[in-house]
Amino acid sequence: MRFGAHVSGAGGLYLAPINGKALGCEVIQIFTRSPQMWTAKALVASELERFKSSVIENGIEAVYIHAPYLINLASANSRVWNGSIGMLREELERGSELGCRGMMFHPGSAKDVGRENGLELVIEGLNKIMSGYKGKCQLLIEISAGAGEVMGDTFEELALMLKGANRGDEIGICFDTQHAFASGYDLRTEVGLNEVFDKFDRLIGLDRMILSHCNDSKVDFGVHKDRHEHLGRGRIGKESFKFLVNHPKLQHLDLILETPMDDGKEGAQGAGEVGSRGEDMAILKAFRNLTP
Ligand SMILES: [Zn+2]
Ligand SMILES: [Zn+2]
Repeated sequence: MRFGAHVSGAGGLYLAPINGKALGCEVIQIFTRSPQMWTAKALVASELERFKSSVIENGIEAVYIHAPYLINLASANSRVWNGSIGMLREELERGSELGCRGMMFHPGSAKDVGRENGLELVIEGLNKIMSGYKGKCQLLIEISAGAGEVMGDTFEELALMLKGANRGDEIGICFDTQHAFASGYDLRTEVGLNEVFDKFDRLIGLDRMILSHCNDSKVDFGVHKDRHEHLGRGRIGKESFKFLVNHPKLQHLDLILETPMDDGKEGAQGAGEVGSRGEDMAILKAFRNLTP
C-alpha cells in the first residue's frame, strides 16, 4: 500500500511532485487544469518533460488525475453531456502524455432524468469516452456520497456501469472512505469494514479497486453529504484507518488524502479548524509500521 495526497500544481505542474515530497507522499493526485473550467491550455513538450523529471526526482511512484468538477455524464443537457465526454477523453489523453496511472471522475447527477435513464446516459458516455482510446492512463469511476440523485453511490450501481459499458472491464473504481460512509457503508468497526470490502469483492471485485481516497467524515453515517475531515477527527474514527491500512486484501491500493487543505486553497474541501495533512500522513505511516 502506498500513501499520498491531492497536491497543488498551481504555478506549474512540475511543482506538484515537489509539494508531494514535502508532505511525504509516495503517490500523488493532481488537477491538470482548473477544475471549474471547460477548456484547458494544451500541454507543451517542455511542460511534459519538466513534470516527468520532477516525478522521478521527487520519488513519486504513481500520479493520479482528478477530473474537473463540471462533469455530468447523467445530464439531460446535451451541451453538458457532450462537454463531459470530450473533457474526460481529453483528460485521459493528457494523463497518458503525463505518464499518469489513472484519472477518476464523479459520474454526476441524474436529477433531470432519474436514476434509470441516468444509468443509460452514463453507460453511453463511457462508451464514447473509451471508443478508440489507446492510452495508458486508466479511467476510474469514483464512488459518490449520493446526495439527491447523484449517481455511483452504491456498489450495485457502479457494477451496472462497469458491466454495461463496452470496454467496462478496462475501467476501474476509485473508492472514497468518506463518500462510502456517507452513502451507508459502515467503516467504523473492523467487522463492518470487512463486510463492506467483502461486499465490494462479491459485486465488483477488489482487483478493480485501484485506489481509495482516504478521508474521515465531517457528517454522520448515511447522511449522503460529501464533507471530508482529517483522520481521527471525524465520524469514521482513527481506528478504521488502522484496519484499512492493514487489511490483507487491500494491500494493492494506493491511498490518497483529500482531507482539508492546510491553507484552504485547492480542492473542494476548505481548511480544517484543527489537524493537518501532515498529521494525516503520519497517522497512515504509523499504522503501516505496526507489527501485528
Ligand atoms: Zn474523493
Ligand atoms: Zn469528496
